[in-house]
Amino acid sequence: MQHTQRLQTFAVSAIVERVETFLLDLPTIRPHQLSMATMNGQALMLVRIHCSDGTVGIGEATTIGGLAYGAESPEGMKLAIDTYFAPLLMGADASQVPALMARLNKAIKDNRFAKCAVETALFDALGHRTGLPVSQLLGGRVRDSLPVAWTLASGDTARDIDEAERMLAQRRHNIFKLKIGRRAVADDVAHVAAIKRALGDRGAVRVDVNMAWSELDAQHGLAGLVDAGCELVEQPVASADALARLKGRFPIAVMADESLTGPSSAFALARVAGADVFAVKTEQSGGLQAAQQVAAIADAAGIELYGGTMLEGAVGTIAAAHAFATFRELQWGTELFGPLLLTEEILAQPLQYRDFQLAVPDTPGLGIALDEDRVQYFRRDRKQASVAAPAWAAPAQAASAQAASAQA
Ligand SMILES: [Mg+2]
Repeated sequence: MQHTQRLQTFAVSAIVERVETFLLDLPTIRPHQLSMATMNGQALMLVRIHCSDGTVGIGEATTIGGLAYGAESPEGMKLAIDTYFAPLLMGADASQVPALMARLNKAIKDNRFAKCAVETALFDALGHRTGLPVSQLLGGRVRDSLPVAWTLASGDTARDIDEAERMLAQRRHNIFKLKIGRRAVADDVAHVAAIKRALGDRGAVRVDVNMAWSELDAQHGLAGLVDAGCELVEQPVASADALARLKGRFPIAVMADESLTGPSSAFALARVAGADVFAVKTEQSGGLQAAQQVAAIADAAGIELYGGTMLEGAVGTIAAAHAFATFRELQWGTELFGPLLLTEEILAQPLQYRDFQLAVPDTPGLGIALDEDRVQYFRRDRKQASVAAPAWAAPAQAASAQAASAQA
């Protein structure tokens, strides 16, 4: 007798009805000095995908310093999504996220940051449709919160030490990443040594050179950093070959960041054992699932993992948190502090940073909601002068809010 079983299927179908994109301009709490750019504000590109069942998903992408980091910019991403992504998404089954991403990847080369924003919005909508958090849709989380490093990048040693002390006192961060590479190698090493000396065992110190050093600079630099008590150096040189040659020469972890541009580059680096650690970034990888593929390659190659940031705002940050929460290994924690670098909150409920960790929401989708009034106020396409400033944006309050954020 043949046993038949009816498979129960959930009614989760919905089609994409509208794709909306806009830019937000938000000020930073202080100038953020990197080897390639100084940031005084951040431009976020947000995408909202409206579906036929009434669900709406949000996604975000941004860059570090406009076009200073890579080929995509917030403005360019908006144009690409409006012109090329939206027609491919309209009318499609919104619940088939991998199939939709495959369609986009076939029709659109590169544009990894924009793809990440769109995939995030699709997963957020699917989460609201099914009642599941994005981390669950990505296969399930193995942790509910993530350690978060803070980046010291004021350019001034004493100011950086003060900032680190405040973070320690508030139990917000005890891992510090120093942005170096703008000055002479010896000056940078002295800056790192002074900060590590001040913090002692209370705080871990790492550096990011953002490719600014030659291979010879790096040999001097890494030797000095080891003596300074620095535990990790991120992308000291531009070339992946030079990075591989530096790995293992000094007792300090060498991490790849800019060299990692998705699963293919991860495989190429892993083949030559080109780094001790991968800084996985969702935007650089081309999306949340692509970031999981990078993590799987690292795991297989015995390369350790760190959850990196493109200085995303709250939406992109929590999307990355959902992806990183699913990584089997995350030996070096994360640097998902992007929203804390901005003076203004754009969520109805801020992300939860406490006890040196970021909590990953367990409510449907990304588990966040935008504060629509604030979003409207900071939209680039609104003439702010013609809109009455809300109480929280009045000059006196803005100044005190900024001071409070800088203390935070
Ligand atoms: Mg980096």
